[in-house]
Amino acid sequence: MIRAISREQVQDLRLYSDPECGILREKIAKQFGFEKANIFVSNGSDDILNFAFMAFCDTDRCGVAFPEISYGFYQVYADLHGVNAKRIPLGSNFEVCAKDYVHIGRTVVIANPNAPTGIALSKAEIERIVASNPDHVVLIDEAYVDFGAESCIDLVRQYENLLVVRTFSKSYSLAGARLGFAIGSRALIEDLEKIKYSTNPYNINRLTLLAGSAAMDENDFYMQNCRIIEENRAYLTDALTALGFQVLPSKANFVFAQSPEIDGEALYRELKARGILIRHFKTESIRNFNRITIGTMEEMQALVAAVKAILNDAKKQKETEL
Ligand code: PMP
Repeated sequence: MIRAISREQVQDLRLYSDPECGILREKIAKQFGFEKANIFVSNGSDDILNFAFMAFCDTDRCGVAFPEISYGFYQVYADLHGVNAKRIPLGSNFEVCAKDYVHIGRTVVIANPNAPTGIALSKAEIERIVASNPDHVVLIDEAYVDFGAESCIDLVRQYENLLVVRTFSKSYSLAGARLGFAIGSRALIEDLEKIKYSTNPYNINRLTLLAGSAAMDENDFYMQNCRIIEENRAYLTDALTALGFQVLPSKANFVFAQSPEIDGEALYRELKARGILIRHFKTESIRNFNRITIGTMEEMQALVAAVKAILNDAKKQKETEL
């Protein structure tokens, strides 16, 4: 990766980047067994989601549907583009219920695995949604799929209405490069390209194109790294469960967990005071939970030790109050 960016490449920054992103798209196509015409790349998957809301969500006729608890930007893009959004509640175990999207007659956007829960749908469940909405685009945001969930990329060969969005920010450790890609039928990719070429044709810079191409060349290394994250996730899940937490079954590079002993906001504050950042959401149905990103084993051990100390302090405090 580092070797991909030479002094000459830096000097070449005086030239515009390739608006077609030909080399990178060829590499992604080869990696996943598609044609270049099935691949769209843009400045982070957020950029692709924004374009997709512009291209495929038509309020006059249908609007969009996505899970009530999911990636916050879906609602932001719906508001930005004036799209009517139907927010569908999760099931009783915080899962996305595929049946709620079958024959829904709207554009569908689902993060799989979902964020911040980490819970994934199977490819068969995604297929039910895609097959039952042939006149609507179904966008599956696979930002976290490489951490153990089942991808539905294969289904793109069968279903013209399926768009799978991916990012280099998570499993390829390139968040700062800002690079995302989508795989879909030629028709869907052409629509996204029209929007990109009408806004900023050179929106991926030369160095990011090189970094993305190098990451594709080293795909096995990154997938191996994802396996380590999965091992560390299993360690953290077991350790938190042993401390009494409910940990949702995650297929992402984070876990979503709650403790009966301490509320989510207090745990967030206490860990922050000890130099450890986790996430807390104020939304009522998940306000006792925290989203904890999986890091190295050392980081996970430090987190578990800090959580133990915080729970002990909370227990002592309760005892003195009695
Ligand atoms: N989708 C989901 C579900 C995410 O959590 C994120 C990252 N915050 C993104 C898309 C956007 O990622 P990026 O723009 O870095 O590719």
